[in-house]
Amino acid sequence: MMILFFVLGAALGSFACCQAWRIHDKDKSKWSHCEKCKYKLKWYDNIPIVSWLTLGGKCRKCRKPIGWAELLSEVGLGIMFALSFWLWPIKGGLVIENFAEVCKFCLFLINLVILLILFVYDAKWKELPVNLMIVSAAIAVVFLGINVYMSYGLGRPFDWISLAGALVILPGFYYLMYRVSNETWVGGGDWILCVPLTLMLGNFWLAIFTLFAANIIGSAVSVPLLVKKKGIKAAIPFGPFLILGFLMVFFLQAQILSLVII
Ligand SMILES: [Zn+2]
Repeated sequence: MMILFFVLGAALGSFACCQAWRIHDKDKSKWSHCEKCKYKLKWYDNIPIVSWLTLGGKCRKCRKPIGWAELLSEVGLGIMFALSFWLWPIKGGLVIENFAEVCKFCLFLINLVILLILFVYDAKWKELPVNLMIVSAAIAVVFLGINVYMSYGLGRPFDWISLAGALVILPGFYYLMYRVSNETWVGGGDWILCVPLTLMLGNFWLAIFTLFAANIIGSAVSVPLLVKKKGIKAAIPFGPFLILGFLMVFFLQAQILSLVII
């Protein structure tokens, strides 16, 4: 099953990376093509991971490099899908008692695909498409709704204060930084991206950990870059770090919560 989910993730990773280009170029063409020579890809050029590796990362026709984003997207989403299946708390397979969990699992996978499009887009063009973030937030609202429903179903009232705190600490904090710095510290898209991430975490502590994780990863990547370029002006997109931080915290949430709730 994990291999199956890896393959599905890799195929959707290929799709997501391609969608980032399409949204950016406002491209409505049906067929994937080479960015350099416009060569239309055949079906055998579109096999996730395998095609990239057999072509050595180059276009079949013009031999210009395709770029690493495609391969990394396919492998990355493949791993995320397999990991999600492995870690998801569905007991005894896809049975009806776990219907709510199955729904949550599917919504999470859809949002993983959207987050990958946002990741690639922000890394390439230092911008986040707002419409896509709204779709992601809408999915996250349903995800949260199921969490609330399950919580009451199990006889535990949902912790709305914790959720409110999470919204203040992540989207709220980034919105403040964006307004105070006039978009020089963080971009205008970052706080909107924080909305779906926070709704899926739904917890104050998890939001704090995501904030720290994103900033630690961000510093580890951007400080060497800034030193090399010797300037603070080199704009570094923050969206990818937020997404990576979120994924780490989401998958480790049980461990994190057992640390902070004594
Ligand atoms: Zn080409």
